[in-house]
Formats: sequence, structure tokens, C-alpha cells
Amino acid sequence: MPEGDSVWRAAAELHKALAGQTLTASDFRVPRFATLNLTGWTVSEVVPRGKHLLMRLLESGEAGNDGRRTLTIHSHLKMEGSWQVYAPSGRWRKPGHTARCVLRTATADVVGFSLGILEVIPTADEDHVVGHLGPDLLGPDWDMEEAVRRIKAAPDIPIGLALLDQKNLAGIGNIYRCESCFLSGVHPAAPVSAVPDLAGLLADAKRLLEANLGSARRVTRESPLRGVRGVPRPGYWVYGREHQPCHRCGTPTHRGMLGPASGMEDRVIYYCPRCQPVP
Ligand SMILES: [Zn+2]
Repeated sequence: MPEGDSVWRAAAELHKALAGQTLTASDFRVPRFATLNLTGWTVSEVVPRGKHLLMRLLESGEAGNDGRRTLTIHSHLKMEGSWQVYAPSGRWRKPGHTARCVLRTATADVVGFSLGILEVIPTADEDHVVGHLGPDLLGPDWDMEEAVRRIKAAPDIPIGLALLDQKNLAGIGNIYRCESCFLSGVHPAAPVSAVPDLAGLLADAKRLLEANLGSARRVTRESPLRGVRGVPRPGYWVYGREHQPCHRCGTPTHRGMLGPASGMEDRVIYYCPRCQPVP
């Protein structure tokens, strides 16, 4: 599951490459949209909504903005997906058979690879695909009270599962789930009702996400150790640090599982058994 910050960065990169540009070719490599041709349509903007990407387009024509149709290319990266921007006819860095969508403009080729969701919908119907999402941690409409209310509506659910449920709030993936639980001293398996300061935990998650919007190298904790050329080594508090000493108390960090078996990689949790006692 991607984190909200990677989707936010992807949207910013796509917006920079595509906004205001007219498509000179489009190629949807999924059966449902294989015959769709958006040549001549203009990209008006690309926006993130939680972990979803919305690429909004305006039909070509003379009719003025009011009479022209608008469409949205809705995508979700899921586990493996990515969008990449190339110079026109540039060489792709991923295998061609994994490409699901190719958009060409006079200045760039934009390719979506291995996308978990790819569909084209009327812009007016966007609510059908993202309307269920809770408040977006990185969105202009972030609403802490509403996110807290939604999470507390199910007080017996483990906080580690509630944080990943995008209907509660949008933007947290496994890394920020583990890191924000650590910062709050809460075990991810603890029920929501046992979290002493839920708003504080969400504020930490938001702060960490925002701190990582500018860089592709995610950091939640800057290590005092210096790496090559004196650049601070990025690091996490607990995520991916099984057996390594906790940065606060020195106890070896644990790796565990949380939630139903169908969740794949998002089942894995990391925590310090001393700072975050098992409930
Ligand atoms: Zn510890």
C-alpha cells in the first residue's frame, strides 16, 4: 500500500508535466477502455485524494468551458503501480508489457505502469470513487475532529487497523501507521478505546507525512549519524527495524502481524515491546 506522501508527490509531478497540455495521443491498455481515444483533450489538473490520483481533462472544442465535457482518469497505485514522466519518445524504465496507460503531449510522454485501478469517468462522478474516503491528511479539507469521530465509532478495533482504513482517514500506509503508533507509545494491536490521545497520534502522522512531501527519500527520524559526505542518514523509529535497538530505550524492536491474512504486506507491524506494551 503506498503512503499518502508518495501519491501527493506523484500528483505534483504529473500536474507539472501535464496541466495545460493537450494530449497528442492516448493509449489505454486495459480492455474496458482499449478503444477510448483522448487525443485533443486538455489536462486541466492532477490532484491526489488520499491514495487516489485524479487526472482531470477538458474536451477539445470551441464551445467555451461551459459546454465542453470533462473526464477524469482515476488511478490507484496499490502495491506495484507508478506513473512516470519521460521526454517525448524517451526510453521507459519499466517493461512495456506492464504499461497500462500512455499519454503523450508535445513535451512529455507520461506512462502509468502496473496500476491497481485505472478507469475513466465523468468528472462529475468522482464522488463515486473517492466519496467514501475519510478526511485527507494531506488534503485542503483535513478535518481532525471528523477523523477522530470516525475512528472512535469502532472503539474495539485495533488502532493499527483503524489507521489504515481509508474510510476513517485517507493517506496513512504501513510506514506511518507504525511510526505514529510508536511516537504515541501505543501498540498497533491496542484497541482504539485504549489510545490516550488519538488526536495527538493523528497530528504526528500528519506532521511526518508533510515533512516528506519535498523529498523522495522518506525520513521520520533524522539519525545523528552522518553518512557519506556528511549527509544525515535517514531513518525510521521502528519500521523495518526488527531486532535493532529501540531509539528511545534500546530494547530490540519487534516485528509482528496484525489483521486478517488477506491483507498481505500491510499485516506486518513493527513496535518496541517496552515503549509500546502489548495489550
Ligand atoms: Zn523502546
